[in-house]
This record gives sequence, structure tokens and C-alpha cells, in this order.
Amino acid sequence: MTSAVELQSLATQLRRDAIRMVTHAGSGHVGGAMGAAELFAVLYGGGILRHRPSEPDWSERDRVVLSNGHICASWYAVLARTGYLPLEELETHRRFGSRLQGHPARAKLPGLVETSSGPLGQGPSVANGLAMALRMNGSDARVYCILGDGELAEGQVWEAAMTAGHHRLGNTVYLILANDVQIDGRVSDVKTQEPIDRRFASFGWEAQRVHGHDVDALRAALGDDPDEGDASREATGKPQCFVLEVEMARGVVAWEGLAKWHGTKPSPKEAAAALEEIGEALGYEDFPIVAGNNNGARP
Ligand SMILES: [Mg+2]
Repeated sequence: MTSAVELQSLATQLRRDAIRMVTHAGSGHVGGAMGAAELFAVLYGGGILRHRPSEPDWSERDRVVLSNGHICASWYAVLARTGYLPLEELETHRRFGSRLQGHPARAKLPGLVETSSGPLGQGPSVANGLAMALRMNGSDARVYCILGDGELAEGQVWEAAMTAGHHRLGNTVYLILANDVQIDGRVSDVKTQEPIDRRFASFGWEAQRVHGHDVDALRAALGDDPDEGDASREATGKPQCFVLEVEMARGVVAWEGLAKWHGTKPSPKEAAAALEEIGEALGYEDFPIVAGNNNGARP
């Protein structure tokens, strides 16, 4: 089993990658990507997802729907760090014609991006459809749908939550990154969504809160019961919701919790200071940046 130190190192590298990708692109969404680093590390590196990097469209893979598509920098990074994409490709993020668009595009990465995303609130409905189709086909694969907390203001999320609860889609897992930040302020000021876990529970879901930067807590919550295996979660027939308590721009103290970092690019100087603060990740190296590409912003 991958150790907690190894998973945290992967998460640290995903943060570094996201900062460098967005800085180099000269635009993007770095704060949410940094806040999701432990989630992606544990999902892909911690034995939670059933997947095959050598066969991305394996029919029995667990499906991942990134409904808050704007945080894709660290998602692309984990796909590169776990063997789905060449590491050098991270440099192309948000470049014209790149496969690594600013919001995931299915046409660019068929078999890897289950659905294009960016328009908030739509992922859960797509996830429900995938889950129903898998069940009809007799597959025990799961569908993981990742959302932001600001995204919960979209009414479609709650229509989908009702649907999954009603149809007892026990193969469906929503992972909600609850940082209490949205594009222009605190979620709790703009339109509070709490208590998220109790709201989902009232729609027929199993819901719990988890410390989203603690790799051990994440793995314990998302993993199967070692004694019961796959049966432990499907036994109830209820869809699962995990409210992941995370911070915007986690890892750089001066940035943490600020709505500014929803969609602001760091200057090369800010990025260099942030990378210094985060430190190097054990066992990893930064992806190469070719001189002359993009706007020349470093690092
Ligand atoms: Mg948020």
C-alpha cells in the first residue's frame, strides 16, 4: 500500500504543477486546483479508483466526472503523474490546440475525459446517467463526481441529488470540495449551502464530512472496509456524499482562503515564492518548460 508520506509527496507535487501550469499559461484557476491536491493524490495514487493508466477506456474503470472543471490543472497533473499523459504535456495547459484545455474537453481527450465540464452544476446529472447505465449493464464500476461548494447554488445539483437518492444509485459518489469560497467571495456570505451533509442525507444519501487535506482520513473515508471489500458501501444502496473540508490555495499561507485565487494567475515572482514555500516533493521533479513557448512567464 502506498504510504501516507508518498501520497502527501504526490499532493505536494500536484500543487507545484498547478502553480507552474497556470503561471506559464498566463491565466487559469490555481486556488481550487491546489485545494484538491490531496483528493486527487488519494483517488489516483491511494488505491481508491479502479483504473488502468495503460488502458484509459477500460470498460470496468470507475468513472470520474470533474463537474467543477475549472480546477483541472491539478487533475491533469495527477493524470500525468500516474501515467496517463506525458509529463511534458503539462506545459501546454490552456494553449491553443492543447489537449489540456482550461476546462476539460471530451473531444480533446476521448476515453479519459468522461464529459466536458465547465458549466457548473451539470456534472451530477451526467454522473447519474453514467451510474444508471453501468447498473443496467451489470457493471460494478463506480462513478465519482467532483464538485465545488459554490457550485451547489446551481439548482440542477439538487435535482440530480433527488434523482440519485430516489433511484438508490449506490454506485455513485459525490466529492464536494467545501472551501467556503466561490468566484467572488465566501459561499456562506453569497448563499450558504450548509449543512451540506445533512441536506444530502435528507435526499436519501449517506453523507459525511472529511478533512480534505489529511491523506489518511481521506483514504479511510473513501476506501472500502477491508473486511467487507466492495460490498461495504453498496450494501445500503444509497449514493454517497463526502463533504471535503478544504482550503482555497492550500499550501501558500498568504493565498489561503482568498477568493482572489479562484481565477487569478500568479506573477512569476509570486509563483517562485509560492514554490519556495511549498518545497520540493519527495521523489518527484518538476515538468520541463521549453523556452519560447507561451507568454514566457516563469516558472
Ligand atoms: Mg468553493
